Amino acid sequence: MSSDASEPAADERLPPETPSKPERRADGRQEPPRPLNEATSRQDVRRYDDRSTGDGLSASDETVASDGTAVSDRDGATGAQQTVDESEVVGRIAEGGPQVGEDLLPDHSFALCLTHDVDRPYKFAQAGFYALRDRDPTQLLDLLPGRRPNWTFDRLLAIEAELGVRSAFYFLDEQRLFGDRPIRDWFDLDAWQLYADRYSLDDPEIVELMERLDRGGWEVGLHGSYESYDDRRRLRAEKRHLESVFGKPVLGGRQHYLNRTLPETWEHHAALGLGYDATVGSSTEIGFDYGDTIGRPFDDEFVAFPLTMMDVAMPNPAENPDAARAACDRILEQAADRGAIATVLWHPRVFNDGDWPGHTELYRYLLERALELGAWVGSPGDLYGELDHPE
Ligand SMILES: [Zn+2]
Repeated sequence: MSSDASEPAADERLPPETPSKPERRADGRQEPPRPLNEATSRQDVRRYDDRSTGDGLSASDETVASDGTAVSDRDGATGAQQTVDESEVVGRIAEGGPQVGEDLLPDHSFALCLTHDVDRPYKFAQAGFYALRDRDPTQLLDLLPGRRPNWTFDRLLAIEAELGVRSAFYFLDEQRLFGDRPIRDWFDLDAWQLYADRYSLDDPEIVELMERLDRGGWEVGLHGSYESYDDRRRLRAEKRHLESVFGKPVLGGRQHYLNRTLPETWEHHAALGLGYDATVGSSTEIGFDYGDTIGRPFDDEFVAFPLTMMDVAMPNPAENPDAARAACDRILEQAADRGAIATVLWHPRVFNDGDWPGHTELYRYLLERALELGAWVGSPGDLYGELDHPE
């Protein structure tokens, strides 16, 4: 793994970040969170710089922090740049990846890695935001004392414990709307959606949750904030903050909103000592377009887990539960045929039945079906421990 030693010292600036609840379409179907700036418009086709021609970054390609200073710490190499479909990149690095049942986990038909991005465990400002935007005053009921609709961890952990499986929870270290963000953002609804209801990693309740997860065999990982995918210093500060409150190193995680540029985002993760990243995938489509096994972008121990299915990309289980279950069946059967390593993202907030009816039951169905089909089910960190890694 690349060494962190050559990196400049991190500044400890707190990073910013994200929305909460997908928008509702006119037909009532919920949409995945939409990027609020062009940073995530790279979802479909991203520029890929071939590593074989250098590190692929032009000298002018640098990150500017919110205070206006350039914070890029990449080398200014001049690799040939080309625009390609990112799935081709991912497919190429995954070639020769292990197949479950053959090269890995011989007693299982496929592997299902479970992940949860902890975006908004509290719902305060969001209730006001959605009440205004959706003209839905019932949202304000969630502000009543004792109601903590997005604190769904008891329920989620109970389901996994009952089925004897474990998962990973990725924690976010964001900027505060008041304090870290410019004052103009206070008057910007998009900024409210992005930064309001941020939680603090230092909140004793969050620290307690991490400790509880760790004690029970769950994985605690890093959910890189909205701007950290191309800002190594910011990502480093977030990782350090998380590890300082958690008290242990973390192995991997995923970028918020699946933000990435490849291979740079992976380079940042690897350079900071992370063993894996689970960012690459789609928030609108399910399936194996991004690979059916792990990839090794740098031919070393750093691993990329392609995302196979995200909650908001599923058919709406409240409107069409049969279609949602059929989509699970289809993916799981394909996974079993291929000996795949599949990864699932279910946000903790969708275990709030008030806002997300049907998602909890669908998750339970997915896990039960996977186990019936002979899957190994666990966290990416646990799967990482099963892999034979190159020297
Ligand atoms: Zn997120």
